[in-house]
Amino acid sequence: MKFNVSEILFQKAGFVSSLNIEDYIRVGDKDLFVVGRGEFLRTDKGIWVSARIDTEIEIECGRCLNKFPFGINFDVEEEVFPSSGFTSESVLEKEEQVGISLIDANNMLDISNMVVQYIDISMPITVKCDVQCKGLCVRCGINLNSNSCKCQTDSINDGWNILSTTRIIERKQEN
Ligand SMILES: [Zn+2]
Ligand SMILES: [Zn+2]
Repeated sequence: MKFNVSEILFQKAGFVSSLNIEDYIRVGDKDLFVVGRGEFLRTDKGIWVSARIDTEIEIECGRCLNKFPFGINFDVEEEVFPSSGFTSESVLEKEEQVGISLIDANNMLDISNMVVQYIDISMPITVKCDVQCKGLCVRCGINLNSNSCKCQTDSINDGWNILSTTRIIERKQEN
């Protein structure tokens, strides 16, 4: 997700240029297709990046553990600076902490890390595939959305229940 911003850096503060993103981005072990619309605004010291970003990630339902596509969208509002303009250690440290993508010596601005961090922040901790999701049977573990079983779920203190609950907790911790 790189942009050549030399034209923008030549302009005076206040100059606006449109920003269009249609690109794949690596998040964890997945390539997500990202669409973004917004603008670059030349500031005194750098460029303000302002964009509305949409993407979709495959996520696991917290109840039935099925994977389903989950839409994520957010607004990016960040100021980025040419790397040559900042050599002090504090700014470099800050860059590592908050992930501000600097513009390299060839005036290439790479916003990949920035977008990945925004996606990270926008990810829900737990999510249901559907408000009506019935989840898994606590006794036999069958997915009750697409199957039915003959288990009685009112006896909550048997071994199967403990087993399947443990399994769900383990699966959650893997993420
Ligand atoms: Zn579900
Ligand atoms: Zn069952």
